[in-house]
Amino acid sequence: MIYLDNAATTAVTTDVAEAMLPFLYTNFANPSAQYSIARQARLAIEKARKQVADAINAEPNQIFFTSGATESNNIVMRAFDHTICSNIEHPSIMGIEFNVFDDYLSENLDRLISEFTSAKSGKRTVISCQWVNNETGIVLPVGTVCATAHHYGLPFHTDATQAFGHIKIDVKALDCDFLSLSGHKFHAPKGVGVLYIKEPKKFKSDIVGGGQEKGIRSGTENVAGIVGIGKAAELYKYTKEREQEVGKMRLKLIDLLSDKLTRSAIFNSKIPNIPNIMSLSIQGVEGESLLLLLDNKDICVSGGSACHSGQNTKSKTLTAMGVPDDYIYGTIRISMDAETNTLDDITKFVEALTEILKVI
Ligand code: PMP
Repeated sequence: MIYLDNAATTAVTTDVAEAMLPFLYTNFANPSAQYSIARQARLAIEKARKQVADAINAEPNQIFFTSGATESNNIVMRAFDHTICSNIEHPSIMGIEFNVFDDYLSENLDRLISEFTSAKSGKRTVISCQWVNNETGIVLPVGTVCATAHHYGLPFHTDATQAFGHIKIDVKALDCDFLSLSGHKFHAPKGVGVLYIKEPKKFKSDIVGGGQEKGIRSGTENVAGIVGIGKAAELYKYTKEREQEVGKMRLKLIDLLSDKLTRSAIFNSKIPNIPNIMSLSIQGVEGESLLLLLDNKDICVSGGSACHSGQNTKSKTLTAMGVPDDYIYGTIRISMDAETNTLDDITKFVEALTEILKVI
């Protein structure tokens, strides 16, 4: 099998699985209990908190474990009356939208925030902008949006789910107030995520329960998952070496596609992009059919975004980017990973794709 859908999810690696294993079998204690194995489970959670904090330049007391980025995003949004967000967010973020591709982004965002906040004075508003887009890998101008939010005294949240491991995340340098992550995008298991909160004492979550995670995310902790995300954060945080390795795959993909594709196509080769995600829109073909035909050849890619799979709706992101409809419906997303893929996978993928395009 050639797995090129790492933006949908990644494989748990052996190191991560081995770190988790004791907390599934031998130490299954509830970390809130009072005996020694429970204290060990608690210590393991605190170690993971430090590993995640170190990976994004935060303090451990600013890190809260959740079930994933969907929950982290929701916890933030629900603490406010309104969200102002980019027009290409994951569906777990909703609000009044600004066009992140606007040539006059700063000025227009400025105007939107100022008009909106004076009309809704007294209401609490959060500004949110994802760091990297899940469908295309485009890097969004989070620094600009964060600075504009702060200019108006408003908090800034970024969904960094697709950024972790591919971009150096430094919450202090960005100065964001909130940041969301999902472990399974960087080799931890599914169902565990992170919410970074700059000033946790000032934050009130709407989740009620046993008060775990300092009341931000009540519910018995997913100890094994948390240990997994800690280990994965330590092992798979951004490094220049890994970026270069995936960068070589991307260059090869761009070269081969430019050389071998016989149909007109649009792909994100120039705009600021993380190396691992390539959105490829081929004119006049059905993206869903391409996926199935590639699957017949044991190659896994996705159509746009796995989060919307099964719903063949027109991509909001590609529409906002101005990609014409007859290309949008022929879009597939190829997402690579340094741990999983080789240059050979890229060659085989392009060979398979060109074969398929000859017959459809
Ligand atoms: N935000 C982005 C940008 C994503 O790509 C995803 C997952 N596709 C999510 C949030 C949600 O992550 P999860 O499903 O793990 O909660």
